[in-house]
Amino acid sequence: MNIVLFGPPGAGKGTQSQYLVQRYSYIQISTGDLLRNEIKKNTELGKEILAKIDAGEFVHDEIVNSLIEKIVSKKNYNNKLIFDGYPRNISQAENLDKIMLKNNQSIGAIIYLDVSRSIIEKRILGRIVCEKCNITLNEYHDQEEIEKHKCGKKYFKKRKDDNSETIMKRYDTFIKETNPLLDYYAKKPSFFKVDATAKINEISTKIAEITNV
Ligand code: AMP
Repeated sequence: MNIVLFGPPGAGKGTQSQYLVQRYSYIQISTGDLLRNEIKKNTELGKEILAKIDAGEFVHDEIVNSLIEKIVSKKNYNNKLIFDGYPRNISQAENLDKIMLKNNQSIGAIIYLDVSRSIIEKRILGRIVCEKCNITLNEYHDQEEIEKHKCGKKYFKKRKDDNSETIMKRYDTFIKETNPLLDYYAKKPSFFKVDATAKINEISTKIAEITNV
């Protein structure tokens, strides 16, 4: 089935997506990663995206929607997609429904990762990502795993947008833009709310239960 994973920045969308990718061969579609890839190309579009991300604002819907459409239309991705960070507002959700319909696809589960603001702040400030294999760890909580990591420690980098001022701004943007989406999705039978303050493996188990329905 195709899955939407959403929740505030730092709720664990990326971590749980990686779990689904590794355990069940899902394809992770992270709009944040797609946008950061565009930035790396150093195009005009990339510069526009960078300005928005640095300001803690959302990138324009049209830009994100077109990135998503290109991916959903790939036939070999059918029923394996996990949307991480998309949709983020009602207009994107409506667009996703349209794209799915056009490609004979549907969303089997909409999972909301529920977590408080104070926990998010701590998680994001410690977050580091391996540039080689894309695993996300936390420098406060995962010391042992970081030391033993298969790619070595040198590839771990902080994301440029993970500083406290940007976090606050992103959190505020999330509340303003994504909370209406929560109301919109909460009415659907395929909606599930998961306590994202639990341990990572407990959250993964819960998600596996939901997605195996
Ligand atoms: P993320 O990696 O999901 O935390 O996203 C990083 C940043 O990319 C966000 O703070 C937004 O500025 C932008 N972004 C990611 N996904 C979307 C989206 N669906 N709509 C608009 N902006 C997005």
